[in-house]
Amino acid sequence: MPQRRIHLVRTLSYQVEILEDRCKGCQLCIKVCPRHLLKLSQHANEKGYLVVEWQYSKTLGCIGCGLCYQICPEQAIRIYAEVER
Ligand code: SF4
Ligand code: SF4
Repeated sequence: MPQRRIHLVRTLSYQVEILEDRCKGCQLCIKVCPRHLLKLSQHANEKGYLVVEWQYSKTLGCIGCGLCYQICPEQAIRIYAEVER
């Protein structure tokens, strides 16, 4: 009789942090996000720019593609990968 094997798979989820003091509200990151997880907030930083905010979505979550990170001219975006248990 063949042996049955169980494969345990851990998936990654991603968290995005916006460094508000660096953001200039150019919205480039909003345009490139394939999941539409970034939007302009009504909150201004100390320089007077409306800053971007990232929205967590369990159903249509961040895929960690890094497009927002790459296009940001101010290095205002950080992406963290987390292992789901
Ligand atoms: S890493 Fe990709 S999916 Fe996640 S917020 Fe940035 S652009 Fe959107
Ligand atoms: S690309 Fe960078 S500077 Fe421009 S809105 Fe997004 S986080 Fe802010």
